[in-house]
Amino acid sequence: MLLSVIIPAYNEEGNVENTARTVGELLSKNSISHELIFVNDGSSDKTWEKLLRMAESSDNIVAVGFSRNFGKESAIFAGLKAAKGDACVVMDCDLQHPPETIIEMVKVWQNNDVDVVEGKKSSRGKESAAYKVFSKLFYKLIKKASGIEMEDASDFKLLDRKAVDALNEMPERLTFFRALSGWVGFKSATVYFDVAPRAVGERKWTTSKLIKYAVNSISSFTSAPLQIVTGCGVVFFIAAVILAVNTLINKITGKALGGFSTVILLQLIIGSVVMFSLGIIGYYISKIYEEIKCRPRYIIDEIVKSKNLSDESKDKRNSE
Ligand code: UDP
Ligand code: MG
Repeated sequence: MLLSVIIPAYNEEGNVENTARTVGELLSKNSISHELIFVNDGSSDKTWEKLLRMAESSDNIVAVGFSRNFGKESAIFAGLKAAKGDACVVMDCDLQHPPETIIEMVKVWQNNDVDVVEGKKSSRGKESAAYKVFSKLFYKLIKKASGIEMEDASDFKLLDRKAVDALNEMPERLTFFRALSGWVGFKSATVYFDVAPRAVGERKWTTSKLIKYAVNSISSFTSAPLQIVTGCGVVFFIAAVILAVNTLINKITGKALGGFSTVILLQLIIGSVVMFSLGIIGYYISKIYEEIKCRPRYIIDEIVKSKNLSDESKDKRNSE
């Protein structure tokens, strides 16, 4: 049995060595043979140099280097592609996902007939109030739109080879790993973990990156927002019928006077609804455009492996 641990790393020079050591030692102690796949997501610091040195000097390290920053989703999928294991675990580089939970996941996977072991946050660690409110809202929206309960879900998961192959076969470029691992089906189990404080460094998400991630995730996973447009249409049609009847009655009883305020209000409301609707439709069209270009999810500059994993340890310029 080989376990692949996939670790996206973006400007994590302070964490990579410690994470590799902690996770590697823990897995060796529990006699789980493993490979640690670090995906360097176009870091601008010394992360890549450190990964190269680690692959050189220690065993079981695979370093995948992107040509630029493609985002965590792409890094996860690149890791899944590179993984050789019978099962894969995806975890953060900052040890916020406690490594001991990996052992628990492996046990659940081996002792039960399950293909996906989801890590759920039993406590969310330190987060700002605004972030908490928005993440609640985000998961509520996802639940409403797709029926999938995802609150406190995380990217910390164990996937059986079956599930990994299914994910690898997905042709789409705009992905939402957290939800897709449930979408592929298979039997799943859940383990709970407490989010630890970040080991070293700052969190890598900026507010604008997070908003983009949220909007992307929802639109890549559900077309429900397009139905909002239809819903608005229905509501405004009903309002229009009522107003039309009212207007006619006023006309017949000779009370039709002025009415400019109504006209102005109607103009404003309908105008904004139409623009809002066009915006949503336009957004989806832009997504279709992006998918149809079939650009790769990421471009790999270089893959370097520890000597024990491969004799031919450098293959350059692979793209996926
Ligand atoms: N990450 C990445 N690419 C990015 C942003 C983040 O690969 O563009 C990685 C990062 O190195 C870390 C994980 O995603 O391993 C989670 O990032 P972070 O700790 O900043 O987010 P948080 O834990 O606060 O959600
Ligand atoms: Mg983190």
